[in-house]
Amino acid sequence: MNEYDSDKISDLMNTINFIKTEDVSDAECIIFNTCHIREKATEKVYSDIGKIKKINRNKEKPIFVLAGCVAQAEGEEIFKRTKYVDIVVGPQSYHRLPAQITNFINKRENFIDTNFKLIEKFDTLDHLQISRKPKISELITIQEGCDKFCSFCVVPYTRGPEFSRSIHSILNEIKKIADEGTKEVFLLGQNVSAYKYIDGNKTYNLPSLINEIAKFDQIKRIRFTTSHPNDMDEELIDAFRVHKKLMPQLHLPIQSGSNKILKLMNRKHTKEYYLELITKFRKANPAIEFSSDFIIGYPGEEQEDFNETLEIIKEVNFVNSYSFIYSQRPGTPAVNKNQILLEICKSRLMELQNLLFNNQLKKNELLVGKTTEILVENKTSQPGQFFGRNQHMFPAFFNSNHNKTGELLNIKIVSCNRNNLFGVLEKQGTFA
Ligand code: SAH
Ligand code: SF4
Repeated sequence: MNEYDSDKISDLMNTINFIKTEDVSDAECIIFNTCHIREKATEKVYSDIGKIKKINRNKEKPIFVLAGCVAQAEGEEIFKRTKYVDIVVGPQSYHRLPAQITNFINKRENFIDTNFKLIEKFDTLDHLQISRKPKISELITIQEGCDKFCSFCVVPYTRGPEFSRSIHSILNEIKKIADEGTKEVFLLGQNVSAYKYIDGNKTYNLPSLINEIAKFDQIKRIRFTTSHPNDMDEELIDAFRVHKKLMPQLHLPIQSGSNKILKLMNRKHTKEYYLELITKFRKANPAIEFSSDFIIGYPGEEQEDFNETLEIIKEVNFVNSYSFIYSQRPGTPAVNKNQILLEICKSRLMELQNLLFNNQLKKNELLVGKTTEILVENKTSQPGQFFGRNQHMFPAFFNSNHNKTGELLNIKIVSCNRNNLFGVLEKQGTFA
């Protein structure tokens, strides 16, 4: 989502005649768009500000903007910790940056805006000119915020309450990028499956939004992330059966395989409920693959709880998952609970990641000798080499003398490693 926001910030800066530079030492304005989900991110922001200061030491100080969730969470504190920052803007009010920067240029007064103004934000973004050529696969924010309050998580405080963007605004954006060459849309939200937009007497949810997006001929693939297990309903499950454009791949974080820990985390679902969902999705589309997020060393996690997490990984056979050691977040309910020793966390993380990596390697090895359809996203820096992803998002590389960007092609996989597939072009895919 930060990637999406950063692109929008770039478009907004164009409206006040700033253009993006690749050389930070040359910049007249520097904007950090930050993440606050884990502790290290905040410290990294301050250390990166230190590095930036050195780069720019011989020049007039650039205007410095701290944007995103660290800005939201730290607020006024930032001005106390560093004099380098001029403007602090949260993730739900960055659409006002052009006005804030213009104001700063005129008055040289520090400014902070951490309000939640989502309707205003998307209204502004809707009228923006896209300043770059859209990618073959584009991210589209459709939902933000969270009302679920898992006890480890800072998102409900930094991104605010659940908000769903208007369907018209989403479809307008998709039309624009589809006309410019985008072939895949990746719908984003902290709780994307909680999407709900009421338009007069019609209510749109994620499945009905997918229905509308599938009508765009140019859009060949649809994906969404991140989903919460408690928002999965029969209609969404069925969408994986009905829509050929909806890729059979679902990121469905479980966090832990232990019911005791899930309860402590306030996840409001059990392992058994989660496994039932997996079975339903597989029935709807047997090709579906799952990925998840895992938190290791949540306060109270004993060896047997961790073993249950390993068990569920074996049972579901997850691909491409994320795993993190629990990180204390100020203001969240779990913050002052007894911490698990870091050494234990590290060794559990390593064991869990090895299992996940082995799963991924085995999945990749199963594809060697087989044909997989990939959407070609771009040329790589290697001469003649192209990069794309298959239906399950596995990265694949192949060579061609012709520009294949944007095409759906069948690739015969000849080798692989844990992360990547390598193949040869077999024959033309479903369109050119
Ligand atoms: N809404 C999504 C998750 C969004 S946050 C869901 O409910 O699944 C993305 C991921 O960051 C989470 O799934 C979690 O695994 C991780 N995360 C969030 N807070 C964390 C913390 N305090 N420590 C470690 N990992 C955390
Ligand atoms: Fe955070 Fe996701 Fe839980 Fe919301 S549902 S509090 S975003 S982990």
